[in-house]
Amino acid sequence: MSRAPVLLVTGGSRGIGAAVCIAAARHGWAVAVNYASSKDAADAVVATIREAGGEAIAIAGDVGKPEDIKSIFADVDAHFGRIDGLVNNAGIVDAIQRLDEMTPERIERMFRINVTGSMLAAAEAIRRMSTRHGGKGGAIVNVSSMAATLGGGAQYVDYAASKGAIDTFTVGLAREVAGEGIRVNAVRPGIIDTDIHAAAGLPDRARDIAPQLPMKRAGTAGEVADSILYLLSAQASYITGAVLDVSGGR
Ligand code: NAP
Repeated sequence: MSRAPVLLVTGGSRGIGAAVCIAAARHGWAVAVNYASSKDAADAVVATIREAGGEAIAIAGDVGKPEDIKSIFADVDAHFGRIDGLVNNAGIVDAIQRLDEMTPERIERMFRINVTGSMLAAAEAIRRMSTRHGGKGGAIVNVSSMAATLGGGAQYVDYAASKGAIDTFTVGLAREVAGEGIRVNAVRPGIIDTDIHAAAGLPDRARDIAPQLPMKRAGTAGEVADSILYLLSAQASYITGAVLDVSGGR
């Protein structure tokens, strides 16, 4: 069994997830770096952590597939023998579209990856961490978005609605497992400079929108990672069910 506490980060290969993995290792976590298809990027995150003396493995798996979520956790069990934290970070956007242009398949995929994937991963974590199941407790952080409050109109209301579901899920699950040693919180990033905007057809979004933001700049993946590490830490021991805006005032 790993002596260090073990953190699973879904979508840890790039962007915010990669920053969380690297920051977590700096804070003493052993890290399971999940990825969907970017094996090289996940391996690079693992290499960065190991070069700094930390412990990490890469685990392939699509959180949009329930059987993959089972196998991701089975890999964590086999390699580390414990799990103490989960960051539900994996998430997608899609092309800018009005609702009346969206296909049912698009909307179903959005919710399957962003919402069902996070719920099923949290369920697996709870089966291992909850004192009700003989576990030692732990912490879950869900990655929402300011889109949950802004609504994503004329951009991607499906994405915004999926993140609204994450906020509600966070509050409810926090209360459900608060007496079982598990804290559940969320962060709501604003505009963060990562690759995700390219998937919406707006690769320069972070730079283009910066003048309209209160701080006149987009956030960095590292700034979101720091807030997630705080919510995972003992310094946040009395915080559960919180949804923390990491949005530069947006
Ligand atoms: P990103 O740069 O596009 O990275 C996405 C990560 O998620 C990648 O590691 C990717 O893996 C992984 N991923 C995607 N689909 C997956 C799946 N089905 N199963 C497992 N992993 C999957 O995105 P990001 O900007 O860092 O976003 C991370 C989270 O922050 C998302 O939940 C997003 O909604 C949220 N967020 C982002 C912003 C922003 O402005 N960037 C703002 C608010 C909220 P591969 O590398 O294998 O593709």
